[in-house]
Amino acid sequence: MALPKIDMPTYDFTIPSNGKTIKVRPFSVKEEKLLLIALESKNPDEIVNTVKQVVNNCAIDVLDMDKLPFFDIDFLFVFLRAKSIGDTVEVSLTCNNMVENEPCGKVFPTSLNIANVQMIRDETIVDKIPLDKDKGVKMKYPSYAKMQHIDQGNPVDYKTNVIISAIEHIYDKNGIYPARDHSTEELKEFVEGLSEANYKKLEDFVDNFPTFAVKLEADCPKCGFHHSVRYSDFYDFFT
Ligand SMILES: [Zn+2]
Repeated sequence: MALPKIDMPTYDFTIPSNGKTIKVRPFSVKEEKLLLIALESKNPDEIVNTVKQVVNNCAIDVLDMDKLPFFDIDFLFVFLRAKSIGDTVEVSLTCNNMVENEPCGKVFPTSLNIANVQMIRDETIVDKIPLDKDKGVKMKYPSYAKMQHIDQGNPVDYKTNVIISAIEHIYDKNGIYPARDHSTEELKEFVEGLSEANYKKLEDFVDNFPTFAVKLEADCPKCGFHHSVRYSDFYDFFT
């Protein structure tokens, strides 16, 4: 006789970018193992694919992973991590507070409460960016897969590539030119042909992508210095 299946609890999760609420379940032990194996591999493609797969499995309502902005998936991943493995992550801090002209140097363990995860977003950032009297660019937040597949290259090229991945369309008085109808080379030529001031406007958009963050407050047991640290990389939550 087949063994009985034990139901998993379900939780409501509100998608940060669109405010929709979906039902999700925690990771199973098997999924947690897959994540740990992927993280140990240190292979970015394997990590991304496993995170995508697990997040997709845990969404009871359909989740369009290739359309949602990357930060929705990061945020959901941290939420699931808290519900599946626990709210607490042990971390160790190194105190670099200067005491009598020497860094304190104390290394001490503390814990991070990831139930306090929050989205950080700059409300002054707008996605429609005029570049000229009647020309401009409409920006969007890239999907998870798109962000992870951006050619790293050198830091300058990387920034340009992120900008290109975030262009929804370019417009002028004659109409709109969707980015998806144009090659990466054409978009690159467009972006690199901009004035420094206009490039900066697009750069501002990508430098201020919303991100999740967990704040940690702890006092150094040696010198008493109050540390306030923001964690916003989900790799930090799987150590
Ligand atoms: Zn200290």
